[in-house]
Amino acid sequence: MSERLPTDPKSWSPQTRAIRSGLARTGFHETAEALFMTSGYVYDSAQEAEESFDGTRERMVYSRFRNPTVAAFEDRLAAIEGAEACRATASGMAAVHASLLCQLKAGDRLVASRSLFGSSQWIIDDLLPRFGVEREFVDCGDLPGWERALSRPTACVLIETPSNPTLEIIDIPAVAELTHRAGGRLVVDNVFATPVLQSPLELGADVVVYSATKHIDGQGRCLGGAVLGSAEFCNDVLGPYLRHTGPAMSPFNAWLLLKGLETLGLRVERQTANALALAQLLDGHPAVARALYPALASHPQHDLAMRQMRAGGTMIALELKGGKSAAYRLLDALHLIDISNNLGDAKSLITHPWTTTHQRLSVEDKLAMGIGEGMLRLSVGLEDIVDLTADLGAALDAAQG
Ligand SMILES: *Cc1c(COP(=O)(O)O)cnc(C)c1O
Repeated sequence: MSERLPTDPKSWSPQTRAIRSGLARTGFHETAEALFMTSGYVYDSAQEAEESFDGTRERMVYSRFRNPTVAAFEDRLAAIEGAEACRATASGMAAVHASLLCQLKAGDRLVASRSLFGSSQWIIDDLLPRFGVEREFVDCGDLPGWERALSRPTACVLIETPSNPTLEIIDIPAVAELTHRAGGRLVVDNVFATPVLQSPLELGADVVVYSATKHIDGQGRCLGGAVLGSAEFCNDVLGPYLRHTGPAMSPFNAWLLLKGLETLGLRVERQTANALALAQLLDGHPAVARALYPALASHPQHDLAMRQMRAGGTMIALELKGGKSAAYRLLDALHLIDISNNLGDAKSLITHPWTTTHQRLSVEDKLAMGIGEGMLRLSVGLEDIVDLTADLGAALDAAQG
């Protein structure tokens, strides 16, 4: 660490942590974080190698276990999140997968929210049952359903809030309390809210997972993921699982993501301001059956959203009155906003969940999740709001036919 830190890092605000935490300058006194593209490390003596492996000496031995640039990303994200520890992974799915598999065993029970990222759904519905893990899904906003499902011993609960793509909100403190009473750990996929707008650990969750591919990179460059929680969980439960199964983040990606964290707050703030303006344009527009955005008073769970989120976020869902054909007319009339299934990017991106991200689901499952054929999911970017409003406005006119 630098020798002249002026203040106690623990007193820093999240924005300062996003710039300064995890910075460990080398002897070259460089300004920016160093990129250590190395798979291994060398020892000054045979004795040092032995001590590095028997645990008497704390140092890096192999980049599947630990790497300085990856560690800088982990330390910085942990500082922003207010978590004791963080472990980075190669992708968001590696983070979700490891956060669940590291703690589950045959005979355990897992409860999850019904609206989940498609691959998370696959892990729970297709993979876990192969290993004898029982699972149950609950609708996001159904508190009596959560109470019923968690009245039995449960090892682990996985939720996403706001959910993808319908932006349903789950009461994190309530589900955390029920989870703990059932003897389990609550894992929150916090991708949609980002660490800037929601702090699940403060709200009672035990573990937070991210796809760093989304807002943390936010510039469409690389994949990454992260799991955050107590030092005990990260070191003793998750640590061995990652070390021996190997979904390690590349140091190069860690370096990109580390730099991404520096501007995360600024980007999310501006994207959120843009999203609120577009949500207000959509709310009550004659082509739109419903606009779903947590900061709109018309959102069915607006009060809950504003209790646990600091703002409405960067994502909007809208259901067009004209169904799939209206949705396609809108998409094909856009000139600025790109048709893409990614999200959290500096570029505004829009997708038709029915035929893309959620295509794999049955019609019944889509409808149960509140996804209609006329639904679009808009990830609002950093473009000037004047240009975004003009592009979306003209496309809405086209959607009306
Ligand atoms: C994208 C995403 C993931 C998966 O992340 P990858 O980096 O694509 O593996 C998981 N959960 C949510 C909510 C996501 O949006």
